Amino acid sequence: MKELQEKILKEGTALNETVLKVDGFLNHQVDPLLMQKIGEEFANYFEDRGITKVFTIESSGIAPAVMAIKLDVPMVILKKQQSKILNGEVYQTKVTSFTKGTSYELTLSKKYIDKDDKILLIDDFLANGEAAQGGIRLIEEAGATVSGIGIVIEKSFQPGRKKLDDRGFDVYSLARISRLAEGVIEFVEEA
Ligand code: 5GP
Repeated sequence: MKELQEKILKEGTALNETVLKVDGFLNHQVDPLLMQKIGEEFANYFEDRGITKVFTIESSGIAPAVMAIKLDVPMVILKKQQSKILNGEVYQTKVTSFTKGTSYELTLSKKYIDKDDKILLIDDFLANGEAAQGGIRLIEEAGATVSGIGIVIEKSFQPGRKKLDDRGFDVYSLARISRLAEGVIEFVEEA
């Protein structure tokens, strides 16, 4: 998505070879018009998949996910809990955070998923694929189907994309970064 690439080049900061900071429009302050276009792009790409729910991971996936309005389905936020909840009302799985290096329990109430659900999973970044794979585990544990994965910014030089491709998921990333270095942001050349 050209507009997103331009925004990343203009306002993003590569802190080092692995971390991109986009606090000005996605992770801290949010650009609503850009989020609307991102949501539309996801909705258009996945519109014929019979999606019944959009899932995202708190907190930076929420803005792009809620903007997939055209799909006209509920959006569910997978919560990051500090510790296990010991009751039968939730699904939980441990995920290691890419940016913080700590882990959390990704949590989903059983009320908001059904085995017939076809789910579009949306997140802000794809790096090692830990968060996305955590979401997939919860969806699959409930017996539901992951019908697509939408990523705002994929760092294609990290292993997450390959892991999801190898499992046969349809991953649609709106910006694909091939290289980061201090002050350098390069994108994958799209054919
Ligand atoms: P993964 O689980 O794929 O290793 O990392 C994805 C998660 O880590 C995303 O949900 C995002 O919150 C965070 N993340 C990974 N890489 C970056 C990055 O370069 N910049 C920012 N701001 N967040 C990132």
